[in-house]
Amino acid sequence: MSHEYLFISDCHLDASRPEISAALTGFLDNRAASARCLYILGDLFEVWLGDDDPAPEYRDVIESLRQLASRVEVFFMAGNRDFLLGSAFASKVNLSLLDEPHILQLGQDRAVLIHGDSLCTDDRDYQEFRSMVRTEKWQADFLGKPLEERQHIAARLRADSVDAMAQKSYEIMDVNQAAVQDCFTRNQVSTIIHGHTHRPAIHRYNSDLSRIVLGDWGQEPSYLSWTSVQGFDLHDPRL
Ligand code: MN
Repeated sequence: MSHEYLFISDCHLDASRPEISAALTGFLDNRAASARCLYILGDLFEVWLGDDDPAPEYRDVIESLRQLASRVEVFFMAGNRDFLLGSAFASKVNLSLLDEPHILQLGQDRAVLIHGDSLCTDDRDYQEFRSMVRTEKWQADFLGKPLEERQHIAARLRADSVDAMAQKSYEIMDVNQAAVQDCFTRNQVSTIIHGHTHRPAIHRYNSDLSRIVLGDWGQEPSYLSWTSVQGFDLHDPRL
């Protein structure tokens, strides 16, 4: 049995970018098939409007995911794009849903898994929005609307978000160092693994603490692997 752990995030699957779907399908069918488990840390989908959405554009990827999940344990933690992915989808595909934060023991290393947006505390408007849409009431109201209406609302929110992001600095949209420190302390971990910022890197704060940032996807896979022999290995075409 393989003892390799794999981590991905931020594929942002979208009908307009078929190269990402192709890269991910290839990764799930081949590379990930020899792993012990795969952790997906959010923003797998560019947008997910509820498990009742037939989402035909994602059919091939979802089938690959389902096939993989019959042999390899697959875990999913929501991102800011796909936080409406729920238990109906999870049971259809045989994924385990993870709450954020999730603690994982890897050898001697105690790690915390998060999507990463919670660390971007300098972006106050976004944090306010996040608090609103992560409430049960907001989600129940939203999911209670017809799919077509949800699509309209999502399109409007995305247009607003593109406008807002264009006015924000590179620094504001990155992690806040105090929030990072707090994340290490609160979770009592030596390693933070997250995505969201699309800035793949391994940051070492001293000999004990590290923050591993997963990359977003393009034509090639971007992923982190861990084995007890090799430790962490971050694979990204930009590194
Ligand atoms: Mn994100």
